[in-house]
Amino acid sequence: MTAPRLEIDLEAIAQNTRALVDMLSPKGVRVTGVTKAACGSREVAEAMLRGGASGLGDSRVENLERLRDEDLGTQLTLIRSPMLSQVDHAVQVSDVSLNTEESVLSALSAAAERRGGRHGVVLMVEMGDLREGIMVADVLDAARFVERRGGLELLGLGTNLACRSGVAPDQQKMDELSRLVESVEAACGRTLSIVSGGNSANLEWALASDDVGRVDELRLGEAILLGMEPLQRRVLEGLRTDAFTLVAEVIEMKSKPARPWGRIAQAAFGVEPPARGHGTVRQAVLALGRQDTDPAGLTPPKGVTVLGMSSDHLVVDAGDHDLSVGDEVSFQVDYSALVRAATSPYVETSERIAQTA
Ligand SMILES: *Cc1c(COP(=O)(O)O)cnc(C)c1O
Repeated sequence: MTAPRLEIDLEAIAQNTRALVDMLSPKGVRVTGVTKAACGSREVAEAMLRGGASGLGDSRVENLERLRDEDLGTQLTLIRSPMLSQVDHAVQVSDVSLNTEESVLSALSAAAERRGGRHGVVLMVEMGDLREGIMVADVLDAARFVERRGGLELLGLGTNLACRSGVAPDQQKMDELSRLVESVEAACGRTLSIVSGGNSANLEWALASDDVGRVDELRLGEAILLGMEPLQRRVLEGLRTDAFTLVAEVIEMKSKPARPWGRIAQAAFGVEPPARGHGTVRQAVLALGRQDTDPAGLTPPKGVTVLGMSSDHLVVDAGDHDLSVGDEVSFQVDYSALVRAATSPYVETSERIAQTA
């Protein structure tokens, strides 16, 4: 097998999805599985559906196109506002998109009409994180705007927190979203079928709250894929954190001094922290670097320490591990390392099919 490669345990993804679906369904909250960190992988999407996800979301039309071609029989949502230059493609590959701009909505409507159909719209509301979203005072107007477009169907409202500024979802913000849903419903004279409360960062609130109000859906990526909630990066109870493993190959193995020698200036990626330790290190160089992943997001095996990294090399202290050139070392990944590995053209992805117990 080639290295570096990202190994995906699909059973872990299905189990994590099932665990989250089971925790949220008593509260009336569905799970939309977000595939973007796995680059819209069909196998990952199918594992999410096996685990009970009620739909799939991705931020890239390229990924949704692949999923559409697979005929998974589920609702596909484009979870980033379509680019104005991409509305035709967006309408072709997704049933629903998250939106904030009237010019995009008009173009989506026209694109949907050209295809002889209607495109579902969830309007995103700005609730303080300052990424995408319509200001609260403008939501009713935006809803009326969608209602007047023949190619669009207003399905609901949504919000996204804790992505740009780290603003945490809480009861007050979610109550505000629910109240807005009710005013939109009053203005439009019908019930909205989607109230999309947020991403994995909403889990803490959703699981603790005894009143989720009108929130009936969360868009979950990280929680399913890595078993973590992103606010404190705590492991979610009962979830697996081992769905992804990044495997790299040793290309040099030598005992070397712990300290560099010579006049110290900048390294390839700026100023490196001073080397620590002294004496001799059993140093392994792995064929893995910043072009493959985010080295800061790697957890090495016990006893191995990451010492440094550049575009194409990862230097580790092998500790007591008996490593030789050609051996492989497996790392756990965080969200940043996962996203980079999944999208790097240099990293092979290999899905492990479910092992039935
Ligand atoms: C990425 C993304 C999600 C999923 O986020 P996770 O933290 O991985 O659960 C949900 N909604 C939107 C709009 C996103 O961009």
